[in-house]
Amino acid sequence: MSILDGEQLQMTDYSCPLCPDTYGDRTNLHVHLEVEHRKSEIVSYLVETLEMADSNADDRSIPDEKRPIPPA
Ligand SMILES: [Zn+2]
Repeated sequence: MSILDGEQLQMTDYSCPLCPDTYGDRTNLHVHLEVEHRKSEIVSYLVETLEMADSNADDRSIPDEKRPIPPA
């Protein structure tokens, strides 16, 4: 019998698109972007992308205004 420790698994490395740095934790990459690259305008876009990927909700892709309003 072997015990799988899920917390030890690191499936994904998060690499900074602006420099060669990589992070095992997305939060660390987020902080790195804001601290090291905060002067770059693209960072806000990247951070938004990260946050959207984090929420990963089904119907997040549809803005409220575009959703059909159900008849009363
Ligand atoms: Zn970087």
